[in-house]
Amino acid sequence: MADVLVIGSGPAGLCIATALSQRGLTVAGLSSTDPAKPWPNTYGLWADELEALGMEKFLKCRWQKSVAYMGKGMIPLNRDYGLINREMLQGHWLAQSKQDGIEWHVGKAAKVTHGSKRSEVTADDGKTYSARLVVDASGHHPAVVVRSPQLQPIAYQAAYGIIGRFSSPPIEPNHMVLMDYRDDHLPEAERKLPPTFLYAMDLGDDIYFVEETSLAHTPAIRFDTLQHRLERRLAQRGATLQETFHIERCLFPMNMALPDFTQSVVGFGGAASMGHPATGYMVGSLLRRGSDLARAIAQSLETIQTSPAQVAQEAWQALWPSDRLRKYYLYSFGLENLMAFNTYELQQFFTTFFELEQSQWASFLADTATLPEIVQAMLVLFGRTSNPVRWGLMSSVFSHGKLLRRTLTA
Ligand SMILES: Cc1cc2nc3c(=O)[nH]c(=O)nc-3n(C[C@H](O)[C@H](O)[C@H](O)COP(=O)(O)OP(=O)(O)OC[C@H]3O[C@@H](n4cnc5c(N)ncnc54)[C@H](O)[C@@H]3O)c2cc1C
Repeated sequence: MADVLVIGSGPAGLCIATALSQRGLTVAGLSSTDPAKPWPNTYGLWADELEALGMEKFLKCRWQKSVAYMGKGMIPLNRDYGLINREMLQGHWLAQSKQDGIEWHVGKAAKVTHGSKRSEVTADDGKTYSARLVVDASGHHPAVVVRSPQLQPIAYQAAYGIIGRFSSPPIEPNHMVLMDYRDDHLPEAERKLPPTFLYAMDLGDDIYFVEETSLAHTPAIRFDTLQHRLERRLAQRGATLQETFHIERCLFPMNMALPDFTQSVVGFGGAASMGHPATGYMVGSLLRRGSDLARAIAQSLETIQTSPAQVAQEAWQALWPSDRLRKYYLYSFGLENLMAFNTYELQQFFTTFFELEQSQWASFLADTATLPEIVQAMLVLFGRTSNPVRWGLMSSVFSHGKLLRRTLTA
């Protein structure tokens, strides 16, 4: 019997499986897809997030010219952005898995039961897998992790992206556009609809990735709406698509409730609601938090008699200590504000946001700031921004006050 069974072989599954085996634990994996099957998503993050972990070699592309557009003029962000070399990162973790003797099984986890010494996962083909602890890393709609009641209606990030060659550059060459919230390519009536922005990058060799993105909306913005908006944006720029290499349809929930911390299974990644509640980014967080979770699990398993329930309790505490819970509620409050803003207010908000000290907005986006630092940044932003944004923020205190109260009491 393995010490730990990890469900799922996406970024979260491979990250935590290898972090656990590096702690000397015997690990088995169960995934509905072959762990060697290439991950489907394109993962971007700030280069300094990987540098802080000594993992910058996993960057495939890097842009010094990262910018945003919030109306007139370009806002230089002066912070390097990168795309993860997903083949390399996945290959690295698979090689580590092999070296550490992690055995991966292909199968779909359907249910879990717990005894005093072990947990047992049953796959939908009837096969069973036992371990002293189960870590569910099966994504945003987890196989066995149970969540607490949902506080807000589920909002989805949705995006429609194209990797291709165009008749002329769709963005400034050598640039990476984090957010382009300009909407002058849309007819008046469409500008009143929920805002979307362009996320784009020059991949070199005259190839560009352009993606029309809805930060979060309930219900999700439809792909055909996003595609239509992207086409209008490109048409205004005079960039005609000439060759398509890949179409990305991105859809994931942003504000899923936290897991139930009393259950005897632990989650990691999307299954443990680890996506940044205000931005959706998660990969940097996985890389930073995996080793702490692995340490807590390894320590707890050192005692032979510990039950899955006891190990899970300590693991959840390590993954979601109270200061992190407080930040989760504050970020969730922030997301509710962003979803209530129209395009003009979002332009105003983000203009002020990127005028904060870079260390302030950078740590907000990477979720590395402490709660007092986030509060301080928000107060500065509140003081500097426009009256419509201020009014929106104040109204949210009334409509989403319960999230703020949880920030104080979690
Ligand atoms: C298109 C897209 C683009 C994204 N871009 C970024 C980005 O640029 N930067 C960023 O930080 N985040 C990004 N995200 C958000 C987040 O990082 C991803 O959703 C990420 O893939 C989540 O990782 P995960 O390992 O938790 O889940 P997943 O990647 O969804 O992996 C889940 C794994 O579990 C397996 N599985 C599922 N169900 C079962 C089951 N019942 N039994 C066994 N195995 C199962 C699957 O086969 C898979 O191997 C993006 C998300 C999407 C959808």
